[in-house]
Amino acid sequence: MLFDKVIFGPIRSRRLGVSLGVNLLPPTAKVCNFNCIYCECGWNTTDRKPPLNSRQEVASALRSKLTEMAAAGECPDVITFAGNGEPTIHPDFEAIIDDTLALRDELCPTARVSVLSNATMLHRESVRRALARVDNNILKLDSAFDSTARLMNGPQQPDYSVERVAERIASFDGQAIVQTMFLRGEVDGVPVDNTTPDEVDAWVAMVARIRPRQVMIYTIDRATPAPDLHKVTREELEAIAARIEALGIPCSVSA
Ligand code: SF4
Repeated sequence: MLFDKVIFGPIRSRRLGVSLGVNLLPPTAKVCNFNCIYCECGWNTTDRKPPLNSRQEVASALRSKLTEMAAAGECPDVITFAGNGEPTIHPDFEAIIDDTLALRDELCPTARVSVLSNATMLHRESVRRALARVDNNILKLDSAFDSTARLMNGPQQPDYSVERVAERIASFDGQAIVQTMFLRGEVDGVPVDNTTPDEVDAWVAMVARIRPRQVMIYTIDRATPAPDLHKVTREELEAIAARIEALGIPCSVSA
């Protein structure tokens, strides 16, 4: 499923409320430096990619939609950067966030600004500055083990390291939100399961070191590009969430 517009929705999000989406990626192609087995946009392709939506296009489309929603008295709860891939790879990401915060303040001041990111661009100072300014800086961390993260997320960076990503998330000093997909199944005949006791123990320990403001855990909701994946039950997610809450960190469950 691809979002065919720069601004999409509003949609009612399981985790965020009434959410107006912002898609910085092309309307006809997924552009991401991960290739998650559960990605709702499908697998990455090697097709030539159309250009990303420009800063001007995003600001203009967002102004128009927020103006319309404010006039109808229906401002969104949240403006969410998600869409057809990883928003932080956009070269103007920081400027787009600044534009968005200004438009939010002007037109829908009660709306929060959220970014859903795979946390791979945190080495870029401009990305870190932008994420530090938004209300909800939501960063993916699906496993504490490189081997599982490689299987679940298919990172394109040959030196991808979960430990390094965790250190970068921790450096937001309790401002970041960690988001984790729990699932089990098989990918090309290889078992994948980030709910085993070893997986959950290591992940809880990593979250304890990161000390995020909040954790969001969820499971599969729609068809996945890897066909042999299975949902985790709400009871299992709630048991995992209880371990995070025991650390004094709020944890929401979507199942
Ligand atoms: S990081 Fe997000 S957009 Fe990229 S492949 Fe994973 S789920 Fe899809």
